[in-house]
Amino acid sequence: MDKKYCTAIVLAGGSGKRMGTKTHKQYLLIGGKPVLYYSLKAFQDSELIDEIILVTGSGEEEYCRQMIVERYDIRKVSCIISGGKERYESVWNGLRQIEKDGFVFIHDGARPFVDGEMIRRAYECVSRCRACAAGMPAKDTIKVVDENRTVVDTPDRNRLWIVQTPQVFDARIVYEAYELLMDKQITAVTDDAMVVEKMLGFPVRMFEGSYENIKITTPEDMETAEAFLKK
Ligand code: C5P
Repeated sequence: MDKKYCTAIVLAGGSGKRMGTKTHKQYLLIGGKPVLYYSLKAFQDSELIDEIILVTGSGEEEYCRQMIVERYDIRKVSCIISGGKERYESVWNGLRQIEKDGFVFIHDGARPFVDGEMIRRAYECVSRCRACAAGMPAKDTIKVVDENRTVVDTPDRNRLWIVQTPQVFDARIVYEAYELLMDKQITAVTDDAMVVEKMLGFPVRMFEGSYENIKITTPEDMETAEAFLKK
């Protein structure tokens, strides 16, 4: 089978308020390099990835180009564009730049521990299913609560996975799903798989990410990330 053209959309927009730092979390350093460097490097080094589209916060394009893309020689970055107010708007800005005939890997730049093996698992899964997302089985029991925090349900843990990125799709499918989302002006969106599920009713398969594939969100995550790097 011919290899499909693969574009990675790496998201580095948003304000990252939960980190409580002036510098946006994707530019904070772990192991002496910016958080965002690690995922860009993983996509750069994977022979499966042809092109990277980097989506940054508005006005941060030049900073990203100089301090990350040029400094660390991430040559697959074909364009650096400005994101939107919400994550889904940043994704949509990225999707408007892509080659429609191929696969799209949508990845949070705040997840530095994606690696070549995970990218390979994603490629194998999307080749079979056309829509998939990285994730891992939930380790904890999860409760559904009402507005008073009273438990209303305890779903069977064997059926619960935590979802991560990359989330990987046939480009036409994810483009069509996002186009519908934007048309209908729906805003309650937390990940890309959800857009494909809800807008098109298209089945999304989970593939194995890793328990280390954390999203840097709060200050403790920086310590965890340093510890993972030292291993
Ligand atoms: O804020 P959160 O941690 O959910 O963001 C997940 C990813 O989406 C991060 O990599 C962040 O840079 C990106 N993002 C974005 N545009 C936004 C909000 C978040 O690119 N408006």
